[in-house]
Amino acid sequence: MTPQNITVLGATGSIGVSTLDVIRRHPDRYKAFALCAHSQVDKLFAQCLEFQPRFAVLRDAALADDLAARCRQAGLTTEVRHGMAALVELASLPEVDTVMAAIVGAAGLEPTLAAARAGKRVLLANKEVLVMAGELFMHAVRAHGATLLPVDSEHNAIFQALPADFSRGLSACGVERILLTASGGPFRDTPLTDLQQVTPEQACAHPNWVMGRKISVDSATMMNKGLEVIEARWLFDAAPAMIQVVVHPQSVIHSAVQYADGSVLAQLGNPDMRTPIAYAMAWPERIAAGVEALDLFRIGRLDFFAPDCERFRCLQLAYDALAAGGTAPAILNAANEVAVAAFLEGRLPFLGIARLNEAVLAALPAGPEGSLADVLGADAEARRMAAAMVAGARFA
Ligand code: NAD
Ligand code: MG
Repeated sequence: MTPQNITVLGATGSIGVSTLDVIRRHPDRYKAFALCAHSQVDKLFAQCLEFQPRFAVLRDAALADDLAARCRQAGLTTEVRHGMAALVELASLPEVDTVMAAIVGAAGLEPTLAAARAGKRVLLANKEVLVMAGELFMHAVRAHGATLLPVDSEHNAIFQALPADFSRGLSACGVERILLTASGGPFRDTPLTDLQQVTPEQACAHPNWVMGRKISVDSATMMNKGLEVIEARWLFDAAPAMIQVVVHPQSVIHSAVQYADGSVLAQLGNPDMRTPIAYAMAWPERIAAGVEALDLFRIGRLDFFAPDCERFRCLQLAYDALAAGGTAPAILNAANEVAVAAFLEGRLPFLGIARLNEAVLAALPAGPEGSLADVLGADAEARRMAAAMVAGARFA
């Protein structure tokens, strides 16, 4: 068989590295066509040496020149590009079959939308795309015949537990509820009075998953679960009231679907992102992912709790933004990106993240999500406001 050409957006990140590991195991099926990263030149060069992609992309010209020189010296024919235009092009070139969207945050929106508009097979890890522009993105997927496969473990689990023709409507398929599981993060039981002092290192030490720093902080605030509620709303055309968050600290059940006849179908597995990545890559087939088999005897028990929306304000804010509609989720997402970056840099306390998100969401009126320009405009305005609030130390 001819290998599928894959463009990996965010190749040097946690999802990118796991994607390349699955590609490495199946060279007959997959070829890394383009590897795209922000600024980790050493890591991207090592990946170029191993996978010999046609293209590599970095953020700016100086970084790209550095990588190009190293590639030439090593005898590689990899062409090195830089900037957003290159990401957009390499997500939509005719030779590309599949795009792994694994950039973190709003930076992934334009290339991922370009992949959908070019009718690609889009493997979506970059949930912020659906949070910011769910309606636009899903419209592009349908209008251009793209194939959208969720990589986020919960949404991948839901996709596996739904019938193949779920796009005809969840109710028509007998679906009553989506049970979106959440680990509760590292601070599920931390006394509220201790949360003010939490450090970035503590927030990034997730009990079950090893992930990039932004999503790790989002897991600690449960903003991640809020973003995932919005993601599920768009991926499965689910009414927000149908999406029930279930705290499940072991992260063995990755999510479930409850049907009208009382059946609940769930997907289980070890917490290793190579499972949903390999599923999305091979769908509708299944391939080896290098993941250890689940040992239920070793796990022994599974626990479930209702989420505490007082402790985890960010989860409630996501439902509020969904209810407000239009650009409200994009505003919340932008505020949160600024808040998380400020927290990681020591400029905002942990509890300031939720307070900042709430303040920005309350201050900016949501507009219609008419076009990409509307979304990017709301994103920019929310970032400006959030940055000013951090600088004004309103939440210190
Ligand atoms: P990460 O921080 O480990 O990696 C991010 C990648 O994006 C890096 O390769 C980086 O170079 C690239 N990048 C960042 N900013 C960029 C920019 N402006 N332009 C171009 N490239 C840029 O993040 P991650 O944990 O791999 O997460 C990636 C996405 O997948 C996020 O949206 C996250 O929510 C989602 N996700 C991750 C996991 C996980 O287990 N890590 C699980 C589910 C969903
Ligand atoms: Mg997830």
